[in-house]
Amino acid sequence: MKAYQEKGLKTYQLYINGEWCPSSSSKTFERKNPATGDLVAEFQKASKEDAQSAILAAREAFDQGDWSSMSGAERSDLLYRAYLRIVEKTNELAELLSREMGKPLSEAKGEIGAVANIFSYYAGLSRAIYGQTTTQIQKDLLGLTLRVPVGVVAIITPWNFPLGTLTQKLPAALAAGCTVVCKPASTTPATTLEIVKILDEVGFPKGVVNVITGSGEELGREIATNPMVDKVTLTGSTETGKDLMKLSADTLKKLGMELGGKSPNIVFADANMEDALDGALFGSFFNQGEVCTSGSRLLVQDDIYDEFVDRLVARAEAIRVGDPLSDDTEMGALISESHLKTVLGYVEKGLADGAKLLTGGKRLTDGIFEKGLFMEPTIFGDVKPNMTIAQEEIFGPVLSVIRFKDFDEAMEIANDTCFGLAGAVWTKDIDKAIRATQKIKAGTIWVNHYMEAHPELPFGGVKESGYGKELGTAGLDAFSEVKTVQIHVGSRNNFYKW
Ligand code: NAD
Repeated sequence: MKAYQEKGLKTYQLYINGEWCPSSSSKTFERKNPATGDLVAEFQKASKEDAQSAILAAREAFDQGDWSSMSGAERSDLLYRAYLRIVEKTNELAELLSREMGKPLSEAKGEIGAVANIFSYYAGLSRAIYGQTTTQIQKDLLGLTLRVPVGVVAIITPWNFPLGTLTQKLPAALAAGCTVVCKPASTTPATTLEIVKILDEVGFPKGVVNVITGSGEELGREIATNPMVDKVTLTGSTETGKDLMKLSADTLKKLGMELGGKSPNIVFADANMEDALDGALFGSFFNQGEVCTSGSRLLVQDDIYDEFVDRLVARAEAIRVGDPLSDDTEMGALISESHLKTVLGYVEKGLADGAKLLTGGKRLTDGIFEKGLFMEPTIFGDVKPNMTIAQEEIFGPVLSVIRFKDFDEAMEIANDTCFGLAGAVWTKDIDKAIRATQKIKAGTIWVNHYMEAHPELPFGGVKESGYGKELGTAGLDAFSEVKTVQIHVGSRNNFYKW
């Protein structure tokens, strides 16, 4: 750690029970900027014992009751203060996010803006937690439902939107009165630790928020099996979600699962072509295509297919791939060497299966790309729905374009997947749009736009994309349980006859 500090590099510790502390194993790991190979920071590799300490701190903070019984207004105040600090620190956080993850700075700023917005939204909602009442069951019975916090929540997050995915969970869990243990992805822990620094600064009580960094498998196993954890909410791959379900079965934990996707983005012949082209590009290459809701299956109707695809390819070739910290960069670096290899492997599979490579497909290696993990925006045409590149989540800048004849065929292709995270339709025909929203099996459907998200609107998948909702009031409900209270009024008049 000392060597790092002498070089002016950031070092981060674990945050457990309101204290910054080293790992009990004394092991550390580092993160290099995927665009340059430069060191970003050094982190503590938490051990199983550190995970246990963090869980215990969250458990004690919850059971002691000060946090969960604090008024909604007081919790709101803390969340709102965090919101203000995040806004103040937007540029600093965005730069760190871009350096640790590889995304363009402009997109990193957008992510911080969204994060702040969600904190402010749940600051408001923490004052609006209500149950229901009824006097309509019997004249002498008052029935109540109370919303009580779930308890200790473990939040496990991926690297593609390190803060966006954290914030779809953390402020809602805190607003509901839960205490938390966060486990960010090992490639991108710095920004999570910076957010927690802010929570510490603005006065969240000790033990309410804890962060451990290190191996997903090792820490995940402890989190999933530890009986002191009440709920685990994961954003990650479908594979990790399945592992977590198995591991947590013995303690019957509540789970929230935000998993993978292979979303259909459907362009009908009557769509506004300019808008649909924009949406198709954004849906495929935003965040280097490393997006769970990426519109990585682009379905284009026969009648416009050739013109649409020609124009799409021309625009994809004009995308500025480059230094993520430069203002005019539109696509940055991929997360890691091994992930880049996986994505390039899918290009090989597409070619082997007979899809037509229309543009891209290669790693960029010259000049500024020499030390980084960059790849060309890639489009395959004439993709058949059963090809690997149309079925598996690639999680990179690789788009598969599939041709369809009519509405029914589009719906059939759209639903021919194990995933169900999102989808979109582009058409000027309102009947067609509504019918498509009814037919496509996915958690979110966009009509004439792509990938927008708002704190007010719930988000979450179906099928193997997971279950449970984040954002909106449903996102708050996900961190509380309904407790029923029945109050009898007046004497029972020997009702039980015992
Ligand atoms: P991942 O599943 O490899 O890792 C996600 C997190 O889980 C990381 O923190 C990791 O350390 C941890 N982890 C790994 N193995 C674990 C285990 N056995 N037990 C517990 N935790 C474990 O996913 P990733 O590569 O970081 O992220 C990409 C995936 O995330 C993609 O599939 C993407 O679609 C998905 N994702 C989904 C959403 C959504 O909202 N549905 C959003 C973003 C990303």
